[in-house]
Amino acid sequence: MSFGASSLRGATGLRGAVVDHRFARRHLINEFRRGRLRKDQVCDAHPELIRAASNFGAPTQVRCPICEQQEVVLVTYVFGPRLPAFGRVVSTAAQMQTLSRSNDDLAAYVVEACTGCRWHHLLRVLPIGGRKKRTPPQQAQG
Ligand SMILES: [Zn+2]
Repeated sequence: MSFGASSLRGATGLRGAVVDHRFARRHLINEFRRGRLRKDQVCDAHPELIRAASNFGAPTQVRCPICEQQEVVLVTYVFGPRLPAFGRVVSTAAQMQTLSRSNDDLAAYVVEACTGCRWHHLLRVLPIGGRKKRTPPQQAQG
């Protein structure tokens, strides 16, 4: 199974728009807590995502909603033309600035992941780059 945007839960069908995925995340957590979803159905992060989370994840104060054992980390992937199909992991503001100066329309996917239980969920997708030179996203909290 190769890694790509489709490996990020909630990432399907999104093209260019800023979408808030908190509702979908909350729904999934509720379904798990009600016993309608098993742990292995929600804790199924791709190994590549867990590797990126371990190496480049930005720490948060957010306790993992599934295992409640540790805090989730945020991983930002950028996808777009001339970038690898599996995306580029962006871990510094400088890297994000560089990508945001691209003339290509790019999309930054901010994902939360738990390296303990492998819970993961897309938090938001932000358009960056392009000829309009949009403001780059901050390394996201919340
Ligand atoms: Zn967890």
